[in-house]
Amino acid sequence: MRALEAIYIARGLTSGLLKIGRTWNVPSRLRALARTAEPVELLATVAAPPSFERELHRRFAAALEPSRGREWFRDDGAIRAFLATLPEAQRGSCVFAPGPKRKVRRRTDAEREASRRAATERYYAHVASVARSHGHAPTLPLRDCPKCLAHWEAHLARSRKSEATRAARRAASALLYPLHHRATGARETA
Ligand SMILES: [Zn+2]
Repeated sequence: MRALEAIYIARGLTSGLLKIGRTWNVPSRLRALARTAEPVELLATVAAPPSFERELHRRFAAALEPSRGREWFRDDGAIRAFLATLPEAQRGSCVFAPGPKRKVRRRTDAEREASRRAATERYYAHVASVARSHGHAPTLPLRDCPKCLAHWEAHLARSRKSEATRAARRAASALLYPLHHRATGARETA
């Protein structure tokens, strides 16, 4: 058996016009209508072949509102009378209105740079506070402070880097702790 599209009848909440259309996805279609035409109230859905939609369009042609295309009709009572003949399970009321517009804005290069800079500042602030808690300057080489070494090891253990990467970083950091980088101008190689 072939799946059938839904013929839907909806009322425009602004114009009061009735729309007869068909779709595979009623909620999606009505959300789109609400966005592009006007908020709508779904009144009925009928699973039926496309020929049934054409038949309804013909039946109510006298009330067609031509300024809105082929599917919007004035509410002269005829469509309401037809709705009343439908089984209750096919009738109902559900309003679709456009939600608030979501603001999606790409960050500018300057904003990205500012956020990178802020992250770097936070990193150095963290480093400075660790060094302060150890009672030495932030530029003290890692190997000179057992607590810094332990801190660094713990950081390495938490990171998901491969063992090879960890070994390389351990060797490198034994020579030059990142604390040192700002003072020397050297770059951290992650
Ligand atoms: Zn330390």
